[in-house]
Amino acid sequence: MSGISPLDLLREIGATNRTHPRDYRAAITGETALLLKVHTSNFAVVGFTAEVSTEELVSVSRESSLPVMVDAGSGTLINLSAYGLQGETTVGKYLEAGADLVTFSGDKLLGGPQAGIIVGKRSCLEPMKKHPLLRALRLDKVTLATLEGTLRLYRDEQQALQQIPSLRMMTLSAEELATRAKAIVRRMRRGLPAGVSLKTLKGFSQVGGGTFPLLELPTTLISISVDGLSSQQLEQSLRTRVLPIIGRIYQGDYLLDPRTVADQDVPDMVLALQSLVAA
Ligand SMILES: *Cc1c(COP(=O)(O)O)cnc(C)c1O
Repeated sequence: MSGISPLDLLREIGATNRTHPRDYRAAITGETALLLKVHTSNFAVVGFTAEVSTEELVSVSRESSLPVMVDAGSGTLINLSAYGLQGETTVGKYLEAGADLVTFSGDKLLGGPQAGIIVGKRSCLEPMKKHPLLRALRLDKVTLATLEGTLRLYRDEQQALQQIPSLRMMTLSAEELATRAKAIVRRMRRGLPAGVSLKTLKGFSQVGGGTFPLLELPTTLISISVDGLSSQQLEQSLRTRVLPIIGRIYQGDYLLDPRTVADQDVPDMVLALQSLVAA
């Protein structure tokens, strides 16, 4: 017989769409060590739904003196609702609501290296620091240095929003993007032969990376067409270059989103399109 699998230790409760405090209460036995709530990061359940808030879970836990852990998934440190990104609870808010432990990713909304971060009450963290598994799971020095560099930016919220690429891209306004799209098109046109057509059109960006699954952020897209090439051929040739250019096809148009195009990428995009026309 093999050892204990994590699935023997984990007891799922509630239904996919509806979970109530009573589901947690009914599942607690003398063996229960922790109440866990996991954030539905990259999907949304809509319609006939109910979920247990952190506050409710904390009050259930107090009845049995159990710790509460929230797996926040993306884990933002900044309240992004002021920037049109609604619905993501900050790590601080989970702790204020009484969670004993909060886990989140270093490389999603935080914008740092791939890492799992655990924050919370000292009484819960101390035993983890002494656990033999820590040696196997701990971060290496290079990752720690990158994480530290990212976290330092968060000492000033505006600095974090400007210098962390994912946050900067997510919080660009529709007006800034319209201006950016036009500026990029102007710059590209100067270097492009006849046979490449560019136009701008209104559209949406999605955040991806496991967060805000339903959110559509308004943007201005750049549509590119090359004489003699279908959008599929154009998409494939640009994607399979040594330095790939990743666009998307929507309703037949090949599209780039200026939200994720850096100024220094524009000359390479021009070269790529020139070589397609030449070929
Ligand atoms: C992304 C995610 C994880 C895994 O985190 P990584 O550090 O990116 O591996 C765990 N739980 C939830 C809810 C997540 O969204």
